[in-house]
Amino acid sequence: MANLSLKGIEKIYPGNKTKSVENFNLEIENEEFIVLIGPSGCGKSTLLRMIAGLEEITSGELYIDGKLMNDVEPKDRDIAMVFQNYALYPHMTVYDNMAFALKLRNIDKDTIDKEVRRAAKVLNIEEYLERKPKALSGGQRQRVALGRAIVRKPKVFLMDEPLSNLDAKLRVQTRAEIIKMHEDLKTTFIYVTHDQTEAMTMGDRIVIMHDGIVQQVDTPQNLYNEPANIFVAGFIGSPQMNFINGKVIEKEGKFRFVNEDLYCDLLEKDIEIIKKNNMIGEDIVMGIRPEHIDIDYSENSPYSIPLKLEIIELLGSEGYLHFKTSSDQIVAKVNLEEKGIEKGDKKVLFELDKLYFFNPETTNRLV
Ligand code: ADP
Repeated sequence: MANLSLKGIEKIYPGNKTKSVENFNLEIENEEFIVLIGPSGCGKSTLLRMIAGLEEITSGELYIDGKLMNDVEPKDRDIAMVFQNYALYPHMTVYDNMAFALKLRNIDKDTIDKEVRRAAKVLNIEEYLERKPKALSGGQRQRVALGRAIVRKPKVFLMDEPLSNLDAKLRVQTRAEIIKMHEDLKTTFIYVTHDQTEAMTMGDRIVIMHDGIVQQVDTPQNLYNEPANIFVAGFIGSPQMNFINGKVIEKEGKFRFVNEDLYCDLLEKDIEIIKKNNMIGEDIVMGIRPEHIDIDYSENSPYSIPLKLEIIELLGSEGYLHFKTSSDQIVAKVNLEEKGIEKGDKKVLFELDKLYFFNPETTNRLV
């Protein structure tokens, strides 16, 4: 159990011109499950390694339970780290791999035995304790690596893409095990991934990073519903949010979003936001998620938008429809069960209460 306080943490690797992590601030509560996510190279691993003490903090302060940790040796930080490549000792049995850290601490044999068996039970690997790592599947090896971390009863668990070497089915299973492990152990977890499904299903809060800079820290639901900027809006959700360039203009007392392909009536709440931000008549980006677009099957809604359906991707009961426009492609995620659909000219409905507007210069969402 521990809380962490990260204050203005920065990292510049020797010889690099840019900061790999820039002014990172976060208060992590006891027992919280924090996920760090972002594209490759955004600084997630660097941040995790600084918390572990494997990488020097260039500037800023790291506190664990109120104690400054910047210059504390990794082994004295009471942290366990699990990597994507397991890093098990190949010549030792599963049992010895898990017992190793406790033996180093001169803990008595009975206690070690109890702790190893307890962890093995949590992770469902009791029957493999006498095997060597090479006689295990990838998923079993990763569970051993998790077990080795559990027995140490660390204050903080750090995990760096622990599931990325597993196949899809095992990934889902092991993901559920890690969630359960977090519930059982009541310990602070900090988990790095580039996979948004992992982030959304595991995190109490998610930290989205881009080029070393935090974009937003929030609950999974808030990141989806209230993205702070275009990067976050595009990063969370699959297929990603559609971004449509245009302007909001007034015509005969009505405010509409327009560009050369389409126009779209707006709700009062959006008009108010756009006015408040002085963006009437200015270049603006409208965002709408694919799941909030559908075909107007009745073809008589006054709000439907004519668009040309160019590509249909069928995925069982669901389908992705790609509409062509002169500049952007618009993707809809629709339920196609029992509905046949053909390419060509369609009428399309946007859920008007699900529109987002962004300033194209700052990329921030208008609020
Ligand atoms: P992520 O884990 O998000 O993929 P990293 O933390 O590994 O990103 O890397 C962040 C940035 O720091 C990248 O630009 C990367 O090239 C750079 N970097 C990482 N490790 C080193 C290193 N040991 N020396 C120099 N630059 C590094």
